[in-house]
Amino acid sequence: MPGFEIFGDEERKEVLDVLDTGVLMRYNFDGPRKGIWKAKEFEENLCTRLGVKHAHLCSSGTSALCVALAACGIGAGDEVIVPPFTFVATIEAILFAGAIPVFADIDDTLCLAPAAVEKTITSKTKAVVPVHMCGAMARIDELKSICDKNGIILIEDACQAVGGTFKGKSLGSFGKMGCFSFDYVKTITCGEGGAAITDDDDLYFRAHAFADHGHDHIGSDRGKEDHILVGTNYRISELNAAVGVAQLRKLDTILDVQRKNKKAIKNALSTISEVTFRNIPDPEGDSATFLAFFLPTEARAREISQALASAGVDGCFYWYDNNWHYIKKWDHIRTLSGGGKMPQADMENVKDYKTLSLPVSDSIISRTICLQIKLGWTKEEIDSRISKILNVFGK
Ligand SMILES: *Cc1c(COP(=O)(O)O)cnc(C)c1O
Repeated sequence: MPGFEIFGDEERKEVLDVLDTGVLMRYNFDGPRKGIWKAKEFEENLCTRLGVKHAHLCSSGTSALCVALAACGIGAGDEVIVPPFTFVATIEAILFAGAIPVFADIDDTLCLAPAAVEKTITSKTKAVVPVHMCGAMARIDELKSICDKNGIILIEDACQAVGGTFKGKSLGSFGKMGCFSFDYVKTITCGEGGAAITDDDDLYFRAHAFADHGHDHIGSDRGKEDHILVGTNYRISELNAAVGVAQLRKLDTILDVQRKNKKAIKNALSTISEVTFRNIPDPEGDSATFLAFFLPTEARAREISQALASAGVDGCFYWYDNNWHYIKKWDHIRTLSGGGKMPQADMENVKDYKTLSLPVSDSIISRTICLQIKLGWTKEEIDSRISKILNVFGK
């Protein structure tokens, strides 16, 4: 996923533009900023690149999710259907909106299973938040039609999937809103940053206001703006946005290299009969940040994952044991009720997940190994990687 691998003069130039003006704030200071508006520029370029009407930059992907939930009016008592395989931020954003995360199983796409979502819908379900995990898409067309049929809001967590598409349309642009992260390890990075995108004028207006203390951003004098709602500060700084401007220009190159590198490794692994691959509903739209594959059993996956690490294959993840990405290790979420592990006093709406059981997801994730795809690999490094991997499988 790493845009940080290719920092260079382009990022430096954009940051220096900002430092030269001394204006680190994305709004106002029209005189001193001498026409430098990096956040606006990043937003405009993101809209063009993703084919959407509006993008609002935020201080992180997590805050982008909070902004999207708030703009869509999701709050106290609302149920939001989520997958158990994501980054815990998806769940945090829902809890901090006062809403209730309701977990539905994933399938071999490593993303929400449409049938599981359908079974999980209740009269309180207000939204579904699928996560396009590890750079590739959920069954987003099916999820969208389930949401449309049931009058449920679709918000995409596309934090790991910038540049990914489904049948040519950008991931993040299927739902009412879509969210991206540009944190330090994402496909393109600006240090810390994120974006909420939408085609809906009203949602954009509310998102923009919520992320900046409710300001309506009408007129050119911040001191005279009205507050249209109660918001908070999820603004991005001009310095972070500047890095993003340079990184976004490199996105297509990043995708090309990742796809080429992933293909080489996948071709080699295809010769191993016990290996099957993650189902990617539209392989052409894969952003190719990871290669995920399955072993027949948990025991075999653990064995292979350890052998790969011992063989020096770096960037190899066994998510079932990882404390960021799978619910099994989220004790702070699983024991919320009565545990007081959220700072808010009112825990009435919080569910107890202690006894939550997701055997389908467990059986998928416990057999999954994920290899990170890097940009900087030389041909020799790829060849050596491939021979180490094949060696682990006794070839
Ligand atoms: C990274 C990530 C986030 C949060 O993004 P930050 O910018 O780190 O706050 C949310 N969801 C997923 C799936 C992520 O990978």
